[in-house]
Amino acid sequence: MSDDAVLGKPMVEKEQELAPFIIEGARSSRSKCKLCRKKIEKEILRLGILIEGPYGTGYLWHHLNCAAKHRLDDVEEAYNQEAWKAANEVPAELPEIEELQKLNEEAQQKRRQQLTIPYIQIDPSGRAKCKNCGDLLEKGKLRIVLGREIEFGTQYRTMPIHVHPKCVLDELDAPNCNTSPEGFAVALQANSTSITNDQVRLALAEIGETKS
Ligand SMILES: [Zn+2]
Ligand SMILES: [Zn+2]
Repeated sequence: MSDDAVLGKPMVEKEQELAPFIIEGARSSRSKCKLCRKKIEKEILRLGILIEGPYGTGYLWHHLNCAAKHRLDDVEEAYNQEAWKAANEVPAELPEIEELQKLNEEAQQKRRQQLTIPYIQIDPSGRAKCKNCGDLLEKGKLRIVLGREIEFGTQYRTMPIHVHPKCVLDELDAPNCNTSPEGFAVALQANSTSITNDQVRLALAEIGETKS
């Protein structure tokens, strides 16, 4: 297998031992971030993680900030190894690791604040329809938010859908429902932070027994 077969970056010299991580300013605008999938503009700091694939060995690139938000362990390891020394040109300015750890904390906090599916909420408008039976959801009544898998280009995403409590069991059986019936009641209780415990009990009674 040729050493030139480098994933997305056929510029590593032969016989050169590749560092497990590189931190550098992007040498062109051609690489793409594996996390946000956007272009890494020239000179923006990027983290390369060495991988050995079936077509050779090469680097997967990430915006350094994206990596900090989602793969902090790798970033910390790269800093331990002083991965900027593996760059052709050591970047003039690097953020302190503390700064990147803070980014990660903020990203985690944001993820926690987003309501997790499934959850119960009170219908605010009376205008939405139950995605299971098609009837209107009544204003002020409890409704359940479940996840439905939709195709989005080449990816699958979870779209939140609203259903009547009595329609939950039927919807959980639907092929494109990606909320698990397993541990459903427990998850619902844990996630339904905007309503009272009594309302949670009421909704659970209306939903009925899940199979697991
Ligand atoms: Zn990115
Ligand atoms: Zn319904």
